[in-house]
Amino acid sequence: MQVLSVVSEIYPLIKTGGLADVAGALPAALARHGVEMRSLVPGYPAVLDALEGSKSVHDIAALSGGPARILHGRAAGLDLYALDAPHLYRRPGNPYVDATGQDWPDNAERFAALCQAAARLGGGAAAGFSPGVVHAHDWQAGLAPAYLHYAAQDAPEASRPGAVMTVHNLAFQGRFPAHLLGSLGLPASACSLEGVESFGGIGFLKAGLRLAARITTVSPTYAAEIATPDGGMGLAGLLQTRASVLSGILNGIDTDVWDPGADPHLAARFTADRPQGRGANKRALKERFGLSPRPEALLFGVISRLSWQKGLDLLLAALPRLLAESAQLVLLGSGDPALEQGFSAAAAAAPGRIGVQIGYDEGLAHMIQGGVDALLVPSRFEPCGLTQLCALRYGAVPVVARVGGLNDTIVDANEMALAVGAATGFQFAPVTREALEQAILRAAAAWRDPGAWRQLQRNGMRTDVSWSRPAGKYAALYREVAEGLGKRSGERDFMVGDAGIEPATPPV
Ligand code: ADP
Repeated sequence: MQVLSVVSEIYPLIKTGGLADVAGALPAALARHGVEMRSLVPGYPAVLDALEGSKSVHDIAALSGGPARILHGRAAGLDLYALDAPHLYRRPGNPYVDATGQDWPDNAERFAALCQAAARLGGGAAAGFSPGVVHAHDWQAGLAPAYLHYAAQDAPEASRPGAVMTVHNLAFQGRFPAHLLGSLGLPASACSLEGVESFGGIGFLKAGLRLAARITTVSPTYAAEIATPDGGMGLAGLLQTRASVLSGILNGIDTDVWDPGADPHLAARFTADRPQGRGANKRALKERFGLSPRPEALLFGVISRLSWQKGLDLLLAALPRLLAESAQLVLLGSGDPALEQGFSAAAAAAPGRIGVQIGYDEGLAHMIQGGVDALLVPSRFEPCGLTQLCALRYGAVPVVARVGGLNDTIVDANEMALAVGAATGFQFAPVTREALEQAILRAAAAWRDPGAWRQLQRNGMRTDVSWSRPAGKYAALYREVAEGLGKRSGERDFMVGDAGIEPATPPV
C-alpha cells in the first residue's frame, strides 16, 4: 500500500530534532512491511540541492501568495515530494526561525501550503501515486487532515485517503490568528470546535487531532499523559474525547546510522559481545574535552537541546553532588542562553572534570554515546526521546526521568529487574533535583561494582531499539485506516471546548 508522510524536516537533509530522525528512518523500515512511503517536505534549499533526477509532477498557480510546484525525486535513499515554493522556503538556515531566533512571520502560510500540497497529493495529483493514508507529523502538518476533510465535503464521491496525525511534541501547537482563515484556503465553517478553531485562533495541531481518523504519539506513556490536564497543554479535553483513536507507538532509531560496530565517528568500534573498544572511545572523548584521564571516574554525558523541557537546570543544580561522587561530565547542546552560560561557567569552574561544547555536532554526539559510561536525560516531559535509545545501543547506561517514552524504554535497576537480569538503566521520579541526585548516587554505587555495571550495559546493548517492531505497528495502523476502520464505534463526538472540559453526552 502507498502512504504519504507529511513532515517539515527529514534526516539527513534537514534536522532540528528527533522528528527528522523519525521521518528519515520510517520509510525504509516500512518497506519491509509492504508499505511504500513517500515523504512530502518543504523545498528548503538543502532539500532542493539534494534532490536527484527530480521532475515536476504538479503545478499550482497560486499557493500562499506565489506560484509553486511539487517535485518528485530521490535524495539519500528517500522517495521525496518537495514543495518548491521559493517565496516560502528559499531561506537560509533553520526551517522555523530566522537568524535572530524569531519565528518566520509567515509560518502559518508556509506550513498551510505544505498541508494543501499534501491534500492535493492525497487526492491523486501525482500520476502513479494514490496513497491510502496521509500521515501528518506535528503541527506543521496538522492542517493536512483538515484540507482532506473539507475537500471530501466538497466532492464526497471522490475517494480520499484516511489521515493519521502523529504528535511528536504537544508543546508546539502552531496557533495563529483567526483572521488568517480565508487566506489559508479554509472555509468559514472550519472555524468551529469540530474544525480548526483553538482558543479563539486557528490551531494547526488541534485541527489534525480533531479531524484525523487516528492519532498516535510516540510512546504509550506520553499517550496517557497528554490526555490529562497536567500533560495536555490545553488539549486534554479534546484528546479525552478521542481516546479510542489515540495510541502510542514507540520510536526506534536507525540502527545503520547508530551502529557501534561500524561507526566512522568512533575512535574504536565495539559490539555487545566485544565491548572492549569503549575504553579507547572514553579516552578519546576525555582528551577532546580536556578531562583528566582517571579511568576509574564515572563519566556522565548529555546530548540535548538546552530547554526547560529537558530538565537540565536540575542537572546544573545537581552538579556539586555529581562532582562529590568523583564523577565527570561532558555535555553537548545548545538552546536557552541561561543554560548555555550556566554549563559553560560550570566547566570553567571545574576544569578537567566537566567539559561542555555549546552547539550542534552530529559526529560528536556519536563519540559521546560511544565514550561515556552513563547518559543523563532528566526531562520534565519526553514524548519518546531518542538519545536514551542510542545510549542503550552504545552501552552508555541511561539515567532518566520516569516520564513519557523514557518510562517505556528504560528498565529501572530495581531489585527485581536486577534479579531477573532485565535492568538497563536508572529511572527517577518526581522530576526534581533531589530525585536526580539520588539517581546519580544509585548509578555511582552500581559503577563501583564492575560486574553489575557490565550486566546493565549488556542488557541495554541487547535491547531491540530498531524500527522493526514500531514499523510493524504503523503498517497495521495504516491498513486499518485505509480499510475504513479509523473511526471505531466507541469514539465519542467532540462537543464542547478543547480546554480540559468534559465532553457532553454524545448525541443518539
Ligand atoms: P528532541 O527531538 O526533543 O530534541 P530527541 O531525544 O527525540 O529530542 O531527539 C534529539 C535528536 O537530536 C537525537 O538524535 C540527538 O542525538 C540529537 N541532538 C540533540 N542535540 C544535539 C546536539 N547538540 N548535537 C548533535 N545532536 C544532537
